[in-house]
Amino acid sequence: MAEIKTEAPPSYDSEDLEQNVPDTNPQNDSRYVTSRASPYNVMPIEMDCPHCQNHIVSHIERVAGVLPWIIFGICAFLGLFLFIIPWCFCCVPFFLEQILDVNHSCPACKKFLGRFSRV
Ligand SMILES: [Zn+2]
Repeated sequence: MAEIKTEAPPSYDSEDLEQNVPDTNPQNDSRYVTSRASPYNVMPIEMDCPHCQNHIVSHIERVAGVLPWIIFGICAFLGLFLFIIPWCFCCVPFFLEQILDVNHSCPACKKFLGRFSRV
């Protein structure tokens, strides 16, 4: 009744499968992993627009993301209890380019392309 199939010669098959794994991985995946995030940066990038297919240089717009609000909260908190930070300083993060997010849009079709986020 019981057929023992443990002594299976197809061990070669499994080895072949393992060897084939790296070959079947598309290169796009590895590039995506190494970049770790969106390809968008604080600077305009040259790319093909996925909406209008034009070769464009992205138009950037700085917007307040999460980070300014965090700094705003810390400043407000410290100012409330320590009175060493003027509360008007809390608005400064929203004007610092270094901590603002950057939205990329297509100059041709005005479509939103992507966002560079600080957090
Ligand atoms: Zn476009």
